[in-house]
Amino acid sequence: MMPCIHCGACVPVCPKGLWPNQLYEALAQGDLARADALGLARCGACRACQDHCPSTLPLTARFREGQRQVLRWTEAKTRAAEDAQQAAERYEAREARLQAAEAEALEAKRQRRAEAKRRTDARPPADNGADARRDAQRAALQRAMDKARAEGREEDLARLTAALAALGAAP
Ligand code: SF4
Ligand code: SF4
Repeated sequence: MMPCIHCGACVPVCPKGLWPNQLYEALAQGDLARADALGLARCGACRACQDHCPSTLPLTARFREGQRQVLRWTEAKTRAAEDAQQAAERYEAREARLQAAEAEALEAKRQRRAEAKRRTDARPPADNGADARRDAQRAALQRAMDKARAEGREEDLARLTAALAALGAAP
């Protein structure tokens, strides 16, 4: 068996209008996509090309084997496409579940906040013990100021006056 000498003798004898030399080359290079595009599936294995090949290349057998390879390759492509489709569907379903869970958590949080606010609003106002303490402090300061004034302690009087002012006016 000799290599293809590109004589072209195989081309005009193909009843399917194929280019056996190019098909053979594509398969020799393992280029199944090109062989498929060249019409390998249409080869009827009539042997006409092989019978006219001066290099006695095993064209027909190679084309039969090539057809099986292309079939397996096409099936593998289909399976890969199906796997990719299923993976995409699983991803989308997971995303939808996560978004639903997130929305649910946000709604629960919003409800907890609303409930806390409702309880705060319903709570009675705090008792007025702070006002009573401030009144007692004012009275004590007032007494201390009277004493400081009576004893002529001007510095203490000024300090006590400032402290009384800081407490603010009586309600
Ligand atoms: S074996 Fe195939 S490629 Fe060769 S002549 Fe017949 S149909 Fe054409
Ligand atoms: S007949 Fe044989 S040697 Fe000539 S081009 Fe076709 S495959 Fe190549």
